[in-house]
Amino acid sequence: MKKVVKFGGSSLASAKQFKKVGDIIRGDKSRRYVVPSAPGKRSDKDEKVTDMLYQCYEAATQGKSYKKILEKIRERYDEIIDGLSLNLNLDFEFSTIEENFLKQAGKDYAASRGEYLNGMVMAEYLGYEFIDAAEVIFFDTDGSFLADLTDKELGDRLEHVEKAVIPGFYGAKKDGTIKTFSRGGSDITGSIVAKAIHADMYENWTDVSGFLVADPRIIKNPEVIETITYRELRELAYMGASVLHEDAIFPVRKEGIPINIRNTNCPEDKGTVIVESTCKKPNYTITGIAGKKGFCSINIEKAMMNAEVGFGRKVLEVFERYGVSFEHMPSGIDTMTIFVHQSEFEEFEQSVIAGIHRAVEPDFIEMESDLALVAVVGRGMKATRGTAGRIFSALAHSRVNVKMIDQGSSELNIIIGVKNADFEEAIKAIYDIFIMTEV
Ligand code: ASP
Repeated sequence: MKKVVKFGGSSLASAKQFKKVGDIIRGDKSRRYVVPSAPGKRSDKDEKVTDMLYQCYEAATQGKSYKKILEKIRERYDEIIDGLSLNLNLDFEFSTIEENFLKQAGKDYAASRGEYLNGMVMAEYLGYEFIDAAEVIFFDTDGSFLADLTDKELGDRLEHVEKAVIPGFYGAKKDGTIKTFSRGGSDITGSIVAKAIHADMYENWTDVSGFLVADPRIIKNPEVIETITYRELRELAYMGASVLHEDAIFPVRKEGIPINIRNTNCPEDKGTVIVESTCKKPNYTITGIAGKKGFCSINIEKAMMNAEVGFGRKVLEVFERYGVSFEHMPSGIDTMTIFVHQSEFEEFEQSVIAGIHRAVEPDFIEMESDLALVAVVGRGMKATRGTAGRIFSALAHSRVNVKMIDQGSSELNIIIGVKNADFEEAIKAIYDIFIMTEV
Protein backbone atom coordinates (compact mmCIF):
# COMPACT_ATOMS: atom_id res chain seq x y z
CA MET A 1 0.00 0.00 0.00
CA LYS A 2 1.39 3.39 -1.01
CA LYS A 3 -0.09 6.70 0.00
CA VAL A 4 0.81 10.24 -0.94
CA VAL A 5 0.08 12.67 1.86
CA LYS A 6 -0.17 16.38 1.22
CA PHE A 7 -0.31 18.83 4.11
CA GLY A 8 -1.68 22.33 3.67
CA GLY A 9 -0.22 25.51 5.10
CA SER A 10 -2.28 25.58 8.29
CA SER A 11 -1.18 22.01 9.04
CA LEU A 12 2.45 23.16 8.90
CA ALA A 13 2.23 26.66 10.33
CA SER A 14 4.17 25.96 13.55
CA ALA A 15 6.25 23.35 15.37
CA LYS A 16 3.09 22.30 17.21
CA GLN A 17 1.36 21.59 13.90
CA PHE A 18 4.43 19.80 12.54
CA LYS A 19 4.30 17.44 15.50
CA LYS A 20 0.69 16.52 14.71
CA VAL A 21 1.74 15.91 11.12
CA GLY A 22 4.67 13.75 12.27
CA ASP A 23 2.31 11.62 14.36
CA ILE A 24 -0.06 11.22 11.43
CA ILE A 25 2.72 10.13 9.07
CA ARG A 26 4.30 7.78 11.58
CA GLY A 27 0.88 6.33 12.36
CA ASP A 28 0.65 4.59 8.97
CA LYS A 29 3.59 2.93 7.22
CA SER A 30 2.03 3.43 3.82
CA ARG A 31 2.32 7.24 4.13
CA ARG A 32 5.56 7.22 2.18
CA TYR A 33 5.49 10.30 -0.03
CA VAL A 34 4.91 13.64 1.60
CA VAL A 35 4.03 16.89 -0.16
CA PRO A 36 4.17 19.94 2.10
CA SER A 37 2.83 23.46 1.52
CA ALA A 38 4.60 26.51 2.90
CA PRO A 39 3.80 27.48 6.51
CA GLY A 40 0.37 29.11 6.57
CA LYS A 41 -1.36 31.29 9.13
CA ARG A 42 -1.08 30.41 12.82
CA SER A 43 -4.08 32.60 13.61
CA ASP A 44 -6.51 34.80 11.68
CA LYS A 45 -4.23 37.81 11.98
CA ASP A 46 -1.08 35.96 10.93
CA GLU A 47 0.47 35.98 7.46
CA LYS A 48 1.18 33.09 5.10
CA VAL A 49 4.87 32.63 4.31
CA THR A 50 3.99 32.59 0.58
CA ASP A 51 2.46 36.07 0.86
CA MET A 52 5.47 37.31 2.80
CA LEU A 53 7.78 35.96 0.10
CA TYR A 54 5.88 37.81 -2.62
CA GLN A 55 6.11 41.02 -0.62
CA CYS A 56 9.79 40.52 0.12
CA TYR A 57 10.62 39.86 -3.51
CA GLU A 58 8.72 42.91 -4.69
CA ALA A 59 10.56 45.12 -2.22
CA ALA A 60 13.96 43.64 -3.15
CA THR A 61 13.42 44.10 -6.88
CA GLN A 62 12.16 47.63 -6.45
CA GLY A 63 15.19 48.66 -4.44
CA LYS A 64 13.09 49.05 -1.28
CA SER A 65 14.07 47.64 2.11
CA TYR A 66 13.36 43.95 2.24
CA LYS A 67 15.63 42.70 5.02
CA LYS A 68 13.06 43.01 7.79
CA ILE A 69 10.50 40.89 6.03
CA LEU A 70 13.15 38.33 5.04
CA GLU A 71 14.10 38.15 8.69
CA LYS A 72 10.45 37.59 9.63
CA ILE A 73 10.28 34.71 7.15
CA ARG A 74 13.47 33.27 8.61
CA GLU A 75 11.92 33.47 12.09
CA ARG A 76 8.96 31.40 10.96
CA TYR A 77 11.25 28.53 9.97
CA ASP A 78 13.51 28.91 12.99
CA GLU A 79 10.50 28.63 15.28
CA ILE A 80 9.64 25.31 13.63
CA ILE A 81 13.22 24.02 13.59
CA ASP A 82 13.81 24.95 17.25
CA GLY A 83 10.41 23.64 18.34
CA LEU A 84 11.24 20.30 16.77
CA SER A 85 14.83 20.35 18.12
CA LEU A 86 16.23 19.72 14.66
CA ASN A 87 19.83 20.01 13.73
CA LEU A 88 19.25 22.09 10.63
CA ASN A 89 20.75 25.42 9.73
CA LEU A 90 19.22 27.45 6.92
CA ASP A 91 21.98 30.14 6.72
CA PHE A 92 23.17 28.98 3.33
CA GLU A 93 19.63 28.67 1.95
CA PHE A 94 18.66 32.14 3.09
CA SER A 95 21.76 33.79 1.68
CA THR A 96 21.16 32.03 -1.67
CA ILE A 97 17.55 33.21 -1.63
CA GLU A 98 18.61 36.79 -0.89
CA GLU A 99 21.18 36.72 -3.69
CA ASN A 100 18.64 35.35 -6.16
CA PHE A 101 16.02 37.92 -5.14
CA LEU A 102 18.52 40.70 -5.90
CA LYS A 103 19.31 39.02 -9.21
CA GLN A 104 15.56 39.09 -9.93
CA ALA A 105 15.13 35.34 -10.20
CA GLY A 106 11.37 35.80 -10.65
CA LYS A 107 8.19 36.02 -8.63
CA ASP A 108 7.58 32.31 -8.99
CA TYR A 109 11.04 31.51 -7.69
CA ALA A 110 10.33 33.74 -4.69
CA ALA A 111 6.99 32.15 -3.87
CA SER A 112 8.30 28.62 -4.32
CA ARG A 113 10.90 29.02 -1.57
CA GLY A 114 8.14 28.65 1.03
CA GLU A 115 7.52 25.05 0.01
CA TYR A 116 11.19 24.39 -0.77
CA LEU A 117 12.32 25.31 2.74
CA ASN A 118 9.38 23.61 4.41
CA GLY A 119 10.22 20.47 2.43
CA MET A 120 13.77 20.55 3.77
CA VAL A 121 12.53 20.94 7.33
CA MET A 122 9.98 18.17 6.87
CA ALA A 123 12.54 15.77 5.35
CA GLU A 124 14.90 16.38 8.24
CA TYR A 125 12.12 15.91 10.78
CA LEU A 126 10.87 12.65 9.29
CA GLY A 127 14.20 11.26 8.13
CA TYR A 128 12.82 11.02 4.58
CA GLU A 129 14.76 11.84 1.41
CA PHE A 130 14.30 15.42 0.13
CA ILE A 131 13.59 15.69 -3.58
CA ASP A 132 13.54 19.21 -5.01
CA ALA A 133 10.38 19.58 -7.10
CA ALA A 134 12.44 21.54 -9.67
CA GLU A 135 14.13 18.25 -10.61
CA VAL A 136 10.97 16.24 -11.17
CA ILE A 137 8.06 18.55 -12.06
CA PHE A 138 8.36 20.16 -15.49
CA PHE A 139 6.87 23.10 -17.32
CA ASP A 140 7.17 24.15 -20.95
CA THR A 141 8.78 27.46 -21.93
CA ASP A 142 5.28 29.00 -22.23
CA GLY A 143 4.55 27.97 -18.64
CA SER A 144 2.19 25.08 -19.39
CA PHE A 145 2.60 21.98 -17.25
CA LEU A 146 4.32 19.04 -18.97
CA ALA A 147 2.22 16.18 -17.63
CA ASP A 148 3.72 13.23 -19.54
CA LEU A 149 7.35 14.19 -19.06
CA THR A 150 6.75 14.81 -15.35
CA ASP A 151 4.91 11.54 -14.91
CA LYS A 152 7.78 9.61 -16.49
CA GLU A 153 10.66 11.38 -14.72
CA LEU A 154 8.94 11.49 -11.36
CA GLY A 155 7.88 7.86 -11.61
CA ASP A 156 11.44 6.78 -12.52
CA ARG A 157 12.97 8.85 -9.75
CA LEU A 158 10.63 7.64 -7.03
CA GLU A 159 10.67 4.02 -8.07
CA HIS A 160 13.70 3.30 -5.93
CA VAL A 161 13.02 5.80 -3.17
CA GLU A 162 11.24 4.24 -0.23
CA LYS A 163 10.21 7.49 1.47
CA ALA A 164 10.47 11.04 0.20
CA VAL A 165 9.40 14.62 0.73
CA ILE A 166 8.61 16.55 -2.46
CA PRO A 167 7.70 20.20 -1.88
CA GLY A 168 4.40 21.29 -3.38
CA PHE A 169 3.41 24.21 -5.61
CA TYR A 170 6.34 24.45 -8.05
CA GLY A 171 8.50 22.83 -10.68
CA ALA A 172 10.88 24.14 -13.30
CA LYS A 173 11.14 24.90 -17.00
CA LYS A 174 13.81 23.18 -19.08
CA ASP A 175 16.24 26.05 -18.54
CA GLY A 176 15.88 25.66 -14.77
CA THR A 177 13.63 28.70 -14.22
CA ILE A 178 11.25 28.01 -11.37
CA LYS A 179 7.55 28.04 -12.20
CA THR A 180 4.67 27.70 -9.77
CA PHE A 181 1.12 26.48 -10.23
CA SER A 182 -1.60 28.95 -9.30
CA ARG A 183 -2.25 29.67 -5.62
CA GLY A 184 -3.10 26.61 -3.56
CA GLY A 185 -1.16 24.55 -6.10
CA SER A 186 0.44 22.10 -3.67
CA ASP A 187 -2.80 20.15 -4.03
CA ILE A 188 -1.85 19.67 -7.68
CA THR A 189 1.66 18.48 -6.81
CA GLY A 190 0.18 15.88 -4.46
CA SER A 191 -2.06 14.61 -7.22
CA ILE A 192 0.80 14.47 -9.73
CA VAL A 193 2.97 12.50 -7.31
CA ALA A 194 0.08 10.12 -6.55
CA LYS A 195 -0.35 9.44 -10.27
CA ALA A 196 3.37 8.96 -10.91
CA ILE A 197 3.82 6.36 -8.18
CA HIS A 198 0.42 4.69 -8.76
CA ALA A 199 -0.62 5.42 -5.22
CA ASP A 200 -3.49 3.57 -3.60
CA MET A 201 -4.70 6.77 -2.01
CA TYR A 202 -3.96 10.48 -2.11
CA GLU A 203 -4.56 11.93 1.34
CA ASN A 204 -5.01 15.67 1.40
CA TRP A 205 -4.67 16.94 4.98
CA THR A 206 -6.15 20.32 5.75
CA ASP A 207 -7.99 22.10 8.58
CA VAL A 208 -11.53 20.88 7.92
CA SER A 209 -12.92 17.39 8.31
CA GLY A 210 -13.84 17.05 4.66
CA PHE A 211 -16.18 18.46 2.11
CA LEU A 212 -19.31 19.87 3.70
CA VAL A 213 -22.84 19.41 2.42
CA ALA A 214 -23.34 23.19 2.50
CA ASP A 215 -21.42 26.36 3.24
CA PRO A 216 -20.86 26.61 7.03
CA ARG A 217 -21.32 30.38 6.82
CA ILE A 218 -24.95 29.70 5.90
CA ILE A 219 -25.67 26.39 7.65
CA LYS A 220 -24.44 25.92 11.20
CA ASN A 221 -22.34 22.75 11.54
CA PRO A 222 -23.30 21.18 8.24
CA GLU A 223 -22.81 17.46 7.74
CA VAL A 224 -19.61 16.20 6.14
CA ILE A 225 -19.95 14.39 2.83
CA GLU A 226 -18.51 10.89 3.32
CA THR A 227 -18.12 9.91 -0.30
CA ILE A 228 -18.38 12.12 -3.36
CA THR A 229 -17.68 11.41 -7.02
CA TYR A 230 -15.36 13.56 -9.09
CA ARG A 231 -18.31 14.72 -11.17
CA GLU A 232 -20.30 15.82 -8.16
CA LEU A 233 -17.28 17.57 -6.74
CA ARG A 234 -16.73 19.42 -9.98
CA GLU A 235 -20.33 20.67 -9.98
CA LEU A 236 -20.11 21.85 -6.37
CA ALA A 237 -16.65 23.35 -6.78
CA TYR A 238 -17.78 25.26 -9.85
CA MET A 239 -20.55 26.73 -7.76
CA GLY A 240 -18.12 27.99 -5.18
CA ALA A 241 -17.59 25.15 -2.69
CA SER A 242 -13.87 24.70 -2.32
CA VAL A 243 -11.49 22.62 -0.28
CA LEU A 244 -9.22 21.41 -3.02
CA HIS A 245 -7.56 23.15 -5.98
CA GLU A 246 -9.69 22.34 -9.00
CA ASP A 247 -6.75 21.18 -11.12
CA ALA A 248 -5.80 18.62 -8.50
CA ILE A 249 -8.56 16.36 -9.68
CA PHE A 250 -7.36 15.57 -13.19
CA PRO A 251 -4.12 13.60 -12.62
CA VAL A 252 -5.62 11.17 -10.10
CA ARG A 253 -9.03 10.96 -11.69
CA LYS A 254 -7.52 9.47 -14.84
CA GLU A 255 -5.86 6.77 -12.75
CA GLY A 256 -8.84 6.02 -10.56
CA ILE A 257 -6.92 7.00 -7.42
CA PRO A 258 -9.23 8.22 -4.64
CA ILE A 259 -8.54 11.42 -2.73
CA ASN A 260 -9.23 11.50 0.98
CA ILE A 261 -9.67 14.95 2.49
CA ARG A 262 -8.60 14.77 6.15
CA ASN A 263 -8.28 17.11 9.10
CA THR A 264 -4.82 17.42 10.71
CA ASN A 265 -6.43 18.77 13.87
CA CYS A 266 -8.93 15.86 14.11
CA PRO A 267 -7.05 12.93 12.58
CA GLU A 268 -9.62 10.44 13.83
CA ASP A 269 -12.29 11.94 11.56
CA LYS A 270 -12.67 9.94 8.37
CA GLY A 271 -13.07 13.01 6.16
CA THR A 272 -14.37 12.88 2.61
CA VAL A 273 -13.35 10.32 0.02
CA ILE A 274 -13.48 11.53 -3.58
CA VAL A 275 -13.85 8.69 -6.08
CA GLU A 276 -14.36 8.19 -9.80
CA SER A 277 -17.50 6.16 -9.27
CA THR A 278 -19.06 4.19 -6.48
CA CYS A 279 -22.01 1.98 -5.80
CA LYS A 280 -21.97 3.24 -2.22
CA LYS A 281 -25.37 4.75 -1.58
CA PRO A 282 -25.11 8.37 -0.53
CA ASN A 283 -26.35 9.08 2.99
CA TYR A 284 -28.96 11.46 1.65
CA THR A 285 -30.71 11.94 -1.68
CA ILE A 286 -28.54 14.94 -2.31
CA THR A 287 -24.79 15.07 -1.89
CA GLY A 288 -24.30 18.79 -1.55
CA ILE A 289 -25.64 22.29 -2.11
CA ALA A 290 -23.60 25.22 -3.34
CA GLY A 291 -24.31 28.47 -5.04
CA LYS A 292 -23.20 31.89 -6.07
CA LYS A 293 -24.66 35.36 -6.08
CA GLY A 294 -24.22 38.09 -8.65
CA PHE A 295 -25.84 36.94 -11.87
CA CYS A 296 -28.15 38.70 -14.25
CA SER A 297 -30.57 37.33 -16.78
CA ILE A 298 -31.25 38.59 -20.26
CA ASN A 299 -34.62 37.45 -21.46
CA ILE A 300 -35.17 37.63 -25.23
CA GLU A 301 -38.62 37.29 -26.74
CA LYS A 302 -39.59 36.91 -30.35
CA ALA A 303 -42.74 35.46 -31.85
CA MET A 304 -42.01 32.25 -33.78
CA MET A 305 -38.50 32.09 -32.37
CA ASN A 306 -38.72 28.30 -32.30
CA ALA A 307 -38.97 28.17 -36.11
CA GLU A 308 -35.93 30.36 -36.70
CA VAL A 309 -32.96 28.09 -37.29
CA GLY A 310 -29.71 29.58 -35.93
CA PHE A 311 -31.43 31.98 -33.51
CA GLY A 312 -29.52 30.68 -30.48
CA ARG A 313 -26.19 30.73 -32.26
CA LYS A 314 -26.66 34.33 -33.42
CA VAL A 315 -27.51 35.46 -29.89
CA LEU A 316 -24.60 33.59 -28.29
CA GLU A 317 -22.21 34.99 -30.88
CA VAL A 318 -22.93 38.45 -29.58
CA PHE A 319 -21.91 37.40 -26.06
CA GLU A 320 -18.84 35.70 -27.45
CA ARG A 321 -17.80 38.86 -29.31
CA TYR A 322 -17.60 40.70 -25.98
CA GLY A 323 -15.92 37.84 -24.15
CA VAL A 324 -18.90 37.29 -21.84
CA SER A 325 -19.43 33.63 -21.00
CA PHE A 326 -22.92 32.42 -20.23
CA GLU A 327 -23.77 30.21 -17.28
CA HIS A 328 -27.21 28.88 -18.14
CA MET A 329 -29.66 29.17 -20.95
CA PRO A 330 -33.19 28.06 -20.13
CA SER A 331 -35.62 28.54 -23.01
CA GLY A 332 -39.33 28.60 -23.80
CA ILE A 333 -41.06 28.40 -27.16
CA ASP A 334 -40.69 32.07 -28.00
CA THR A 335 -38.27 33.05 -25.28
CA MET A 336 -34.65 32.43 -24.50
CA THR A 337 -32.93 33.51 -21.32
CA ILE A 338 -29.21 33.87 -20.84
CA PHE A 339 -27.67 33.92 -17.38
CA VAL A 340 -24.34 35.74 -17.10
CA HIS A 341 -22.07 36.96 -14.33
CA GLN A 342 -23.15 40.49 -13.54
CA SER A 343 -19.59 41.71 -13.00
CA GLU A 344 -18.48 40.37 -16.40
CA PHE A 345 -21.52 41.68 -18.20
CA GLU A 346 -22.04 45.18 -16.83
CA GLU A 347 -19.32 46.82 -18.90
CA PHE A 348 -20.73 45.49 -22.18
CA GLU A 349 -24.42 45.57 -21.33
CA GLN A 350 -25.54 48.15 -23.86
CA SER A 351 -23.26 46.87 -26.62
CA VAL A 352 -24.57 43.33 -26.15
CA ILE A 353 -28.18 44.49 -26.22
CA ALA A 354 -27.57 46.48 -29.39
CA GLY A 355 -25.77 43.47 -30.88
CA ILE A 356 -28.73 41.17 -30.12
CA HIS A 357 -31.13 43.64 -31.71
CA ARG A 358 -29.04 43.69 -34.84
CA ALA A 359 -28.48 39.95 -34.93
CA VAL A 360 -32.00 38.59 -34.38
CA GLU A 361 -34.45 41.53 -34.28
CA PRO A 362 -36.26 40.39 -31.13
CA ASP A 363 -39.67 41.74 -30.11
CA PHE A 364 -38.53 42.41 -26.61
CA ILE A 365 -35.50 42.19 -24.34
CA GLU A 366 -35.86 42.27 -20.59
CA MET A 367 -33.11 42.13 -18.00
CA GLU A 368 -33.02 41.32 -14.34
CA SER A 369 -30.03 41.74 -12.06
CA ASP A 370 -29.01 40.62 -8.56
CA LEU A 371 -29.84 36.98 -9.05
CA ALA A 372 -28.25 33.97 -7.42
CA LEU A 373 -27.85 30.41 -8.62
CA VAL A 374 -28.17 27.47 -6.25
CA ALA A 375 -26.95 24.05 -7.36
CA VAL A 376 -28.36 20.97 -5.71
CA VAL A 377 -26.02 18.13 -6.59
CA GLY A 378 -26.32 14.41 -6.04
CA ARG A 379 -25.79 11.11 -7.82
CA GLY A 380 -28.66 9.79 -5.71
CA MET A 381 -31.22 12.08 -7.37
CA LYS A 382 -31.40 9.97 -10.50
CA ALA A 383 -32.88 7.03 -8.66
CA THR A 384 -35.21 9.00 -6.42
CA ARG A 385 -38.65 10.18 -7.34
CA GLY A 386 -39.87 13.57 -6.21
CA THR A 387 -36.53 15.29 -5.60
CA ALA A 388 -37.47 18.35 -7.61
CA GLY A 389 -40.90 18.36 -5.98
CA ARG A 390 -39.36 18.40 -2.53
CA ILE A 391 -36.98 21.21 -3.44
CA PHE A 392 -39.72 23.42 -4.79
CA SER A 393 -42.20 22.82 -2.01
CA ALA A 394 -39.45 23.56 0.53
CA LEU A 395 -38.67 26.80 -1.28
CA ALA A 396 -42.34 27.72 -1.47
CA HIS A 397 -42.71 27.09 2.26
CA SER A 398 -39.83 29.42 2.91
CA ARG A 399 -41.40 32.01 0.62
CA VAL A 400 -38.55 31.91 -1.86
CA ASN A 401 -39.61 32.77 -5.37
CA VAL A 402 -37.99 30.55 -7.99
CA LYS A 403 -36.90 32.52 -11.05
CA MET A 404 -35.32 29.75 -13.09
CA ILE A 405 -34.95 25.98 -13.07
CA ASP A 406 -32.37 24.03 -15.01
CA GLN A 407 -31.86 20.31 -14.61
CA GLY A 408 -28.81 18.89 -16.33
CA SER A 409 -29.59 15.89 -18.51
CA SER A 410 -27.24 13.80 -16.38
CA GLU A 411 -29.71 14.27 -13.52
CA LEU A 412 -26.73 15.00 -11.35
CA ASN A 413 -27.83 18.50 -10.52
CA ILE A 414 -30.73 20.88 -10.38
CA ILE A 415 -29.89 24.55 -10.68
CA ILE A 416 -32.30 27.08 -9.30
CA GLY A 417 -32.22 30.82 -9.91
CA VAL A 418 -33.45 33.03 -7.06
CA LYS A 419 -33.01 36.64 -6.01
CA ASN A 420 -29.70 37.43 -4.29
CA ALA A 421 -31.69 38.39 -1.21
CA ASP A 422 -33.27 34.91 -1.07
CA PHE A 423 -30.00 33.02 -1.55
CA GLU A 424 -29.27 32.04 2.06
CA GLU A 425 -32.91 31.21 2.77
CA ALA A 426 -33.06 28.97 -0.29
CA ILE A 427 -30.00 27.00 0.81
CA LYS A 428 -31.37 26.64 4.35
CA ALA A 429 -34.71 25.40 3.05
CA ILE A 430 -33.09 22.79 0.80
CA TYR A 431 -30.66 21.66 3.50
CA ASP A 432 -33.50 21.27 5.98
CA ILE A 433 -35.73 19.23 3.73
CA PHE A 434 -33.02 16.79 2.65
CA ILE A 435 -30.59 16.61 5.53
CA MET A 436 -32.56 17.49 8.64
CA THR A 437 -35.73 15.65 7.74
CA GLU A 438 -34.26 12.71 5.86
CA VAL A 439 -33.11 9.73 7.87
N1 ASP B 1 1.81 28.12 -0.57
C1 ASP B 1 1.05 28.27 -1.77
C2 ASP B 1 -0.11 29.23 -1.53
O1 ASP B 1 -0.22 29.82 -0.48
C3 ASP B 1 0.62 26.99 -2.36
C4 ASP B 1 -0.18 26.07 -1.45
O2 ASP B 1 -0.25 26.30 -0.26
O3 ASP B 1 -0.75 25.11 -1.96
O4 ASP B 1 -0.89 29.43 -2.42
